[in-house]
Amino acid sequence: MRRRDVFAGSLALGGLAAGRALASDPIAAGLPASSAGGAKATGESERTALPGTIPPLVPIRAHVDQIVDIKVCLRPFRPMGPRLDVERIGDKLVVHNYGHGGSGWSLSWGSAEIAVGKALTALPRQVAVIGCGIVGLTSALVAQRAGLDVTIYTKDMLPHTRSVRANGSWTPDSRIALTTPAGPEFGDLWERMARYSWKSYRDYLGLPGNPIEFRDSYILSDKPFGSTQEFASTGPGDYASNGMPRSASEFAHYSDRIRDVIPAAEVIAAHDNPFPVAYAKREAVMIFNFGGYGHLLLSEFYQAGGKVVIREFHAPSDLKGLKEKVIINCPGLAARDWWSDKTLIPVRGQTAWLPPQPDVKYGVRYNGVSALSKSDGILIQGFNASGLGEMDGVGNSFEHADRMEAENAVTTIGGLFSRFSPRRG
Ligand SMILES: Cc1cc2nc3c(=O)[nH]c(=O)nc-3n(C[C@H](O)[C@H](O)[C@H](O)COP(=O)(O)OP(=O)(O)OC[C@H]3O[C@@H](n4cnc5c(N)ncnc54)[C@H](O)[C@@H]3O)c2cc1C
Repeated sequence: MRRRDVFAGSLALGGLAAGRALASDPIAAGLPASSAGGAKATGESERTALPGTIPPLVPIRAHVDQIVDIKVCLRPFRPMGPRLDVERIGDKLVVHNYGHGGSGWSLSWGSAEIAVGKALTALPRQVAVIGCGIVGLTSALVAQRAGLDVTIYTKDMLPHTRSVRANGSWTPDSRIALTTPAGPEFGDLWERMARYSWKSYRDYLGLPGNPIEFRDSYILSDKPFGSTQEFASTGPGDYASNGMPRSASEFAHYSDRIRDVIPAAEVIAAHDNPFPVAYAKREAVMIFNFGGYGHLLLSEFYQAGGKVVIREFHAPSDLKGLKEKVIINCPGLAARDWWSDKTLIPVRGQTAWLPPQPDVKYGVRYNGVSALSKSDGILIQGFNASGLGEMDGVGNSFEHADRMEAENAVTTIGGLFSRFSPRRG
């Protein structure tokens, strides 16, 4: 692997220009892909948080002896963006809805809206949905809301899918496409999916158990935001020459398109900063609590008369046996095998889980690691373990836990809070 040979990018995090630079590679900068860390589309300049608005913060207790689970997930990444086209297989109309990279939770409703719209052109009364990950389940619900009778055919139910091994934050353009293969038109499609999803999620805010909620996320750094950082490649060439991206610079980012509705980050002035680091920002991030939200969606599906059949498909010809003539195909990365779609590239990611700490009502991002307090535990994810930014995990299909990686991530957060002074928090 050759490092330092692609480009050195200046990630200006401060000021208006900074927001734009950040949006071009937020993961490498330590922010969610949704984050521009600054200005909104209106041209408003970056704000400093009002004095006194940082609430007392209960420290996160992060110790390796508290790890209760390590989950590994493979993002279903397609360089040209999710597959949403329509195919005829015998007398069946198959609408594909898979390949959402690191954005499947975030874009699920909008992607479902597009897929169901295509299914409706055949005027069906019944529809089959293959898969019960977050993309399949939302497709099934959108189809029901359009008045269709829906059966989900799936190998696994939501709690056992890759979907619930994710992070579960609003990250709508994380590993969603590469700029060149996706082409300029994909931006419009992405924006439609992102806006529809954002609106749909708002319907699930403020409900008992907080299936969906906002958390403050503190972005922390020992160096000034805007320090020059280097990005690396994994080898010569690019996706066009290798069939595999080689550099984080190949990944597409679209978040600027929806700046008008996404809360901007705000700088925390030094005298208000409770963290043992020199620089801090805060942003409000929408998060998905898998247990409560998944349970709610499944209940909604059953209450509307939905049926589930546990079944595994091995080849497109298996569809012949289904009674439904219209099928929405949502198998995630598994389309690589059962639909022989070799455009899908696995992108490995891992999360470590600590017991829930209900008094902790926020998240942090520091030194390539994020910690987030969710209803089912403290989630800790090293999102840049290799130092390769968005190239981290690309092409890696090792779906087993790496204990060392988990311990390193937990230790980073533990070290941060061992220096945290509750008097300041
Ligand atoms: C570490 C990590 C963190 C992430 N964090 C986020 C995040 O914060 N926000 C976000 O938006 N996204 C995130 N993602 C991405 C997100 O998890 C995926 O995009 C999403 O889960 C894909 O969902 P899916 O329903 O398409 O696929 P899956 O969850 O894989 O579901 C596929 C379904 O199809 C079924 N199936 C598969 N093959 C067959 C078959 N042959 N026959 C029958 N059924 C079959 C499966 O049983 C399953 O029910 C993250 C991913 C990772 C790895």
